[in-house]
Amino acid sequence: MRRFAVAAALTLVALPAFGQASRPMIETTKVEGTDNVYIFRNGNHQAMFVVTKEGVIATDPVAYGRPQGGQQYVEEIKKVTDKPIKYLVYSHHHYDHIAGGKAFKDAGAKIIAHKRAKERLEKLADPATPLPDETFEKQRTLKLGGVTLELSYLGLNHSDTTIVMRLPKEKLIFIVDTIPVGAMPGRGMIDMYPLETEQFIERVLKMDWERLIPGHPGQPGGRLGTKQDAQDQLDFLRYASETVKAAAREGKCWDAVEKEVKLPKYEKWPGYENGLQFVLRRYCGLWGRGT
Ligand SMILES: [Zn+2]
Repeated sequence: MRRFAVAAALTLVALPAFGQASRPMIETTKVEGTDNVYIFRNGNHQAMFVVTKEGVIATDPVAYGRPQGGQQYVEEIKKVTDKPIKYLVYSHHHYDHIAGGKAFKDAGAKIIAHKRAKERLEKLADPATPLPDETFEKQRTLKLGGVTLELSYLGLNHSDTTIVMRLPKEKLIFIVDTIPVGAMPGRGMIDMYPLETEQFIERVLKMDWERLIPGHPGQPGGRLGTKQDAQDQLDFLRYASETVKAAAREGKCWDAVEKEVKLPKYEKWPGYENGLQFVLRRYCGLWGRGT
């Protein structure tokens, strides 16, 4: 009996380490401290879904380049509830987050997104990305089975379609790409709105929430973000912006900046090596080019 207990304890200790070393491609986890909020992760992308007694509110299919990804997400939802999927909300228009919605439409979900997202998606007509059924400009509140999910557009930021999703009771927000948690922004800098993003993060900081679910697992360990993480990202953007502004006014954009400028305060952030070039290029676009 005693030996068995020891063996069981060892197994419990060993499992998390093993799990980390070989992280599954797809994983669904319940957000700690909630009864009904889940994170679905596929590779390095993740989305939130909320289960209510009248149905499920899902977000972002995260199935770019994964033809089965949408269906796999639907199946993961079915493992935790037999309630129908009523809504699929797009966080913004970028395909790496929203391709794969067909399985949700087939399951009867209504797709909701920002108005500008629909305009963009219509033009490009990506076969893997169904158009929204309903859009909004500033604010939309979804109420289902006793759960309230607020959708807000707070101005330009990572894109011109990125919204904030907030669960007021749970004090959780889901924001994709604009506020990386504990990490350097990367390629996504290419079409972001630098000055407006600073205002956006200031607005987010004023909202009532405690934890942020990011669209890519937070660093380290897939953690959720806090207001401190949002503030850190804002400080980073301002520092990068001021640094490149000074260089731009000495005529150093693009080449000299991309070769010479470093942001040593942030060199320990995951993604620094790869992300630096994208950050510098975006701010050269702003301060050296005017856009
Ligand atoms: Zn994006």
